[in-house]
Amino acid sequence: MVRDDPFQKVLKAVKRVREPGDRPEEEVGAMDRYSCDLCQGIREREEIVQCGFCGRWVCRKNCWEGDFKACDSCSGLIMLAKTSAKEEE
Ligand SMILES: [Zn+2]
Ligand SMILES: [Zn+2]
Repeated sequence: MVRDDPFQKVLKAVKRVREPGDRPEEEVGAMDRYSCDLCQGIREREEIVQCGFCGRWVCRKNCWEGDFKACDSCSGLIMLAKTSAKEEE
């Protein structure tokens, strides 16, 4: 039996906030400064990453879960999906 991959589950469940390749929100009046879609902090371009699940641009420092390669919001969902996958065993 093929079990649902938690990552696939989350990909399907997550509402896309931005499309892949969309540009991050630019801080008005500031060059090369962008705001994090989660904490609204202003970051340099290289400090923010786009989440492949929801498309949000988030800062590496506060809002990025490197283990899941997802933003904090989506990594919460991945955790849940993983837990429920285990419970089905
Ligand atoms: Zn942030
Ligand atoms: Zn996300």
